[in-house]
Amino acid sequence: MLHHFTMSQEQEYTPYVIISQREIPWGYPDAGLYRELAVAPQAARCPDCGRWTSTVHEYHSKRVTSGTYHGAPVYDTFAHRRLECGCGRTFMEPLPWLPAHQRMSVDAQRAMCLSVSDGTFQSVGRAFGRTGQNVRTHIIAKADVEADLPLRPTPAYLGMDEITLAKGKGQYRLVLYDMTVPWRPELFTMLPSRRLEDVLSFLRQLPHPERIIAVAIDMWEPYRRAVQCSLPSALVVVDAFHLIQASTRALDEVRKKAQKNLDPKQSLALKQEEELFTTPMEDLSAEKRERLEYWKAQVPELALAFSLHQRLRGLYRCSSFEDALDHLALWEREVLETGLESFLKLHSTVWNWLPEIMNRFICKISNAKTEGKNNQLRTMNQQGFGYKIRSLRARMQMPYTYHHKRFLSFGHETPSNEPAIPPATRKLTLEWKWTQ
Ligand SMILES: [Zn+2]
Repeated sequence: MLHHFTMSQEQEYTPYVIISQREIPWGYPDAGLYRELAVAPQAARCPDCGRWTSTVHEYHSKRVTSGTYHGAPVYDTFAHRRLECGCGRTFMEPLPWLPAHQRMSVDAQRAMCLSVSDGTFQSVGRAFGRTGQNVRTHIIAKADVEADLPLRPTPAYLGMDEITLAKGKGQYRLVLYDMTVPWRPELFTMLPSRRLEDVLSFLRQLPHPERIIAVAIDMWEPYRRAVQCSLPSALVVVDAFHLIQASTRALDEVRKKAQKNLDPKQSLALKQEEELFTTPMEDLSAEKRERLEYWKAQVPELALAFSLHQRLRGLYRCSSFEDALDHLALWEREVLETGLESFLKLHSTVWNWLPEIMNRFICKISNAKTEGKNNQLRTMNQQGFGYKIRSLRARMQMPYTYHHKRFLSFGHETPSNEPAIPPATRKLTLEWKWTQ
C-alpha cells in the first residue's frame, strides 16, 4: 500500500510517509501493525558546533514501536540516518515523534503503561515486543519519578488499611487510599509496613498536610498515634465496618464457648450453623431465621450475645451524634447487665476508641469501599507471583498517572528556544527514493 509517496507535502510538517503496511490482528502470534516508513530528510543542528547539516554519513535500519492499533502494537521500520557535520562530528538525526535515544513513541509508552494494570509485565512485554524485565524497569522508573514528585495533591480524606498479599503469611503492608471521591477510592500509596515510625515519616512528608480533613482507620493504635502526632487537626474516624467486625468476633467467641458446653452432636450442629451468626440478620432467609431462633432458645447466652451484636450494629443507623451517643449508652448498660466476657472486652475497646468511633457521626468516611481495591492488589500480586513493593505500586498507580495527565516523558530533551527543524525545511517535497 502506498501513501502520499510522490505527493508534495503542503502541510506544515510531516516527519515520515508510510511506504507499506501489514497487519497481524490482535490475538494472533506476533500481532501488530508493521509499517515501513520513509523518514523525510531534514537538517539538524550539530550537537558540537551548532551548525545545521543534512549530509548523510550512513543509514541504520531501525525498528520502533509507535503506538497501538486495535490493541496491537504498531511497529515502524525505517532507515535512520547518521548525519555528518563539517566539524567531523557524526550523530543520529533526531526523530521528531520519538523521544531521543528511545525505541518507543510517547503514545506507545502511554499505551504500554496503561496496560500494566491489566496484565503482568511479562504479558505486556510480549504485546509490545519487549522483555518483561524491560517493561518492569520502564514502569518503575516512571512510578519512581511519580513518587518523588510533590505534584500529587494531598487528599482531603485519607483511608488507611493494611493488606497481606499472601494469605496467612508475610508481613502487613500499609495501603493509603485517597477517599476524596468516596465511591471511587484511589490508591494513594503503599508502604512496606504499618509500624508507627513508617506511618509517621510518611505523613510528615505530605506536601500539604493541612488539607487533610479526616483519616479513616481501623482500631490499630499506631495509626491513631501517627495521625495525632503529625496531623493534629485531622479527624480520626474509626470505620463502622471495623467495629462491626470486632463485634462479630465477640459473638463468635460466645458461640464457640457455648459449643463446648453442649453434647457432641449438638455442638457439631451449632458449629455448622456458623453463618447464621456472621451474616447480617436482614440477609437471612425465613428458614435460617427460624434456626437462629432455635439456637437462641437452646443457648441463652447466645441469645444475649446476639442481641448485643444487633444493638451495636444498630449504632450505624443513628443519624445524629446525639442519637448515636444515646444508643451507645443503652448498649453499654446491656453489656454490663449480661456480663458476657467477650462483650466486656469489646466494651473496653469501644471506650478506648470512643472519640474516634463517634467521629464517624461527624464525618462519614469508611474503608469499606477500599476492600475491592485491596482485592485488586492481591490479584495483581498473584498474577506476578509476588512482586516487590515498587513493582506492585507502579502497576497499581499507572492508570492514575495517565488519567491525570501528569505523564512525564523520559530522555526527551526539548531544546530551549530553538525549533527542532530549521524553518526552510518545513515545506517538504518528497522526491527522494527509498534507500536500502
Ligand atoms: Zn559540527
